Amino acid sequence: MDAFQRFQAASLFCPKCRQALPVKEKLLLFLPDGVLYDYLCEACGTSVGTRKESVPASGLLGIKPGEGGPGPSAEAQRRRKA
Ligand SMILES: [Zn+2]
Repeated sequence: MDAFQRFQAASLFCPKCRQALPVKEKLLLFLPDGVLYDYLCEACGTSVGTRKESVPASGLLGIKPGEGGPGPSAEAQRRRKA
């Protein structure tokens, strides 16, 4: 539970307000391997930090480089022989 609370940045130091203030989490952009969040100061709206969250893509985990090509073709050859 402690780790989870650490992920949720309740307040971050804002250089403009010069103090730690509550922040709003905003989805900034999508990445090939995750999502980038932007933290905005609730008082002035200044971006005080970003957080990248890796999204476990089932397709990336299931298919390893190199296995995708020869795998199906080898199986097809077995079927032709049989
Ligand atoms: Zn601020």
